[in-house]
Amino acid sequence: MAFELPPLPYALQALEPFISARTLEFHHGKHHQTYVNNLNGLLPGSPFETLSLEEIILKADGPIYNNGAQVWNHTFYFESLSPSAASEPQGSLAEAIKRDFGSYDSFREEFTKSALSLFGSGWAWLVKDDKGRLFIVQESNAGNPLRKGLIPLLTCDVWEHAYYLDYQNRRQEYINAFWKVLDWGKVSSRY
Ligand code: MN
Repeated sequence: MAFELPPLPYALQALEPFISARTLEFHHGKHHQTYVNNLNGLLPGSPFETLSLEEIILKADGPIYNNGAQVWNHTFYFESLSPSAASEPQGSLAEAIKRDFGSYDSFREEFTKSALSLFGSGWAWLVKDDKGRLFIVQESNAGNPLRKGLIPLLTCDVWEHAYYLDYQNRRQEYINAFWKVLDWGKVSSRY
């Protein structure tokens, strides 16, 4: 059974002016779609053919892992954004952020630093461990924290294709825009 590209949960223009329709058209319609197509091309005849995406992330290596994780990571990223985003963490996640980072502001500062300083292509993640403790982790390329037994709560895609059309080399401006459309309601529901 082939994997399919999940539709965006909002219109292409919905995140403007922070993330343009043009960026989403390429990022979702071309990049995300290509990972889906590549994965579907690689799976037949492999030992991973009947596995779920999560199982592929845990067990595969090389091109099947890379494309499978990129499919998962992008779906997770796009689902975290919203034009009517709740602007701050809520409920038990808000309390856990305060406990583990001191305050929401210091969490945001630390996460921004992590996304900004990631060298090359990759993803900055907020994750929890099996005790509910929060951590910020950087992953290069297709890296996904499920692989380390951590549970992803939010991610920022810092591959240049995520921001180059809107911000060229100015990753900091993209990260500022990311905070404007990150839906803390969605992230809080994952905690
Ligand atoms: Mn991307």
